[in-house]
Amino acid sequence: MRKRVGIPRALLYYKYYRFWKTFLEGLGYEVVASGRTNQKILRNGIKHTVDESCLPVKVFCGHVLDLIERGVDYLFIPRIESVEKGNFVCTKFLGLPDIVRNSLPLTSGMSKAILSPNIDFNRRSLYRSMFSAGWGLIKNPIRIHIAYRRAKKKQRDFEEGLRLTGSPRRVIELIETGRNKKAESKGDLNIALMGHPYNVYDDFINLGIVKKLETMNVNVLTQEMVSCQESRKKSSRASSDLYWTYGRETLGASLIFLKRAVDGIIFVISFPCGPDSLTIDYAIREINGQVPILSLVLDEHQAEAGIMTRLESFIDLVRMRKRT
Ligand code: SF4
Repeated sequence: MRKRVGIPRALLYYKYYRFWKTFLEGLGYEVVASGRTNQKILRNGIKHTVDESCLPVKVFCGHVLDLIERGVDYLFIPRIESVEKGNFVCTKFLGLPDIVRNSLPLTSGMSKAILSPNIDFNRRSLYRSMFSAGWGLIKNPIRIHIAYRRAKKKQRDFEEGLRLTGSPRRVIELIETGRNKKAESKGDLNIALMGHPYNVYDDFINLGIVKKLETMNVNVLTQEMVSCQESRKKSSRASSDLYWTYGRETLGASLIFLKRAVDGIIFVISFPCGPDSLTIDYAIREINGQVPILSLVLDEHQAEAGIMTRLESFIDLVRMRKRT
């Protein structure tokens, strides 16, 4: 029977699942993703993390416990250093394996079974990191090399496919199955829903914002539908010293959507996110009232009624503005 490697369906799962899955399967392992976020996962994550952690990290820890319950043999929790030359990602991505080892009630066997390669997507060290992670699982350099090449190609195809999806539902389908279908836009409004993919595509964390917008006849556009290189370039023109890559992508994509004449922009932020408190504020200043903006802050208390009321009022306002 093949050994099973668990990948938490949280945080950077939404960006690199196809890459990691292809690589691990190429080494002969079965890949298991944790279940969709639910109340139990959230509660478990909250129970075992410090209050100061941001909501997505709490949810991530809940997903790790879900995988342990599913009886996986390994956990894949890489340490992401950087994905772009000269810029960095939030430090939480660097510390994730330590957060998991020090916060969760793991057996010593499970603690040792965490695969946590240091990943820098920008350098040759990506190959070295993945090679050493692979070496821990299989002593076959040729197979590791082939698995790596395939995974890189899969990731390239995935990123190209994202741009064509046209709806968050299709993005999730592409992440989960690798199948790419283009959505038809039927709504009368185009709204850009901006924020980290782990907030935008996790229906439980965001209290079903996407579904709600779709029932209001809105075409929902997300930053994954713009090439990240294009977004980063656009953001550099606006600000050369914003150094969190994912924040730069949010800023750049917002400005690109603005040029594409979206009817409004919604920012989804999770509490308490340091990088977003700066980035989103900056993006709002850059947009400078050219389209209506709504910022929604998600937290573990899940006050659905408040979020939905604000969403409905915002869409009413955008529609009224469009008619006049
Ligand atoms: S960017 Fe913000 S939400 Fe994401 S992991 Fe860092 S602190 Fe948490």
